[in-house]
Amino acid sequence: MTNTANQSGKLLVVSGPSGVGKSTVDREVIARSEGRVVYSVSATTRQPREGEIDGRDYHFVGREAFEAMIEAGELLEHADVFGNYYGTPAGPVNQARAEGKTVLLEIDIQGGLAVADKCPGATFVLIAPPSKEELDARLTGRGTEDQETLQRRLSKAHWELDTARTSGVYTIEIINDVLEDAIGALLEVALT
Ligand code: ADP
Ligand code: 5GP
Repeated sequence: MTNTANQSGKLLVVSGPSGVGKSTVDREVIARSEGRVVYSVSATTRQPREGEIDGRDYHFVGREAFEAMIEAGELLEHADVFGNYYGTPAGPVNQARAEGKTVLLEIDIQGGLAVADKCPGATFVLIAPPSKEELDARLTGRGTEDQETLQRRLSKAHWELDTARTSGVYTIEIINDVLEDAIGALLEVALT
């Protein structure tokens, strides 16, 4: 059972299409927050990318272990994204919020909408690209995906933006055009 009572820290949900720059912006916001904003480390069944560290970027687990976490009610939300499970362990989120910290969840739109049902007081931010062409260029330029995964991620982007914008849940939209501006905007949301 997820306890959302008596929590003072803010729950900040950040979503947006793959390649829009969420990790880049979020990392800087956390680094500049002087410990007031913490990152929720998700569990996932996808393979680690080069440079990703288990326990820092994700908890990389197998499908069985992930399904056991679902069964045990340990996840605040979970979703199937691009054929892999992703989910937010509830314990660390509750603990950090109880300490008065803002907890940043970098999760997909489905996950965000699930959090909206469970935690109505949360803040929802959509990070959007300046244009579809720029999104394509960023995701392709990152060079972390094979051709098939890349196409799948790009074709989902439009749906994600549309769904978030019409959901009534994502009430804040930040266009990640000039990186510094996007970081400043999210930092302000996170700390106020
Ligand atoms: P996401 O976490 O949303 O999938 P990333 O943070 O991995 O996206 O960013 C995707 C790529 O876009 C990275 O190569 C990153 O350096 C680049 N990027 C991020 N923000 C900007 C920006 N404002 N302008 C140009 N490139 C950016
Ligand atoms: P990536 O594979 O690029 O790290 O992430 C793919 C997508 O899964 C991104 O939109 C990311 O925000 C989302 N994601 C990461 N962690 C979680 C999570 O715990 N729950 C949900 N619902 N989505 C997540």
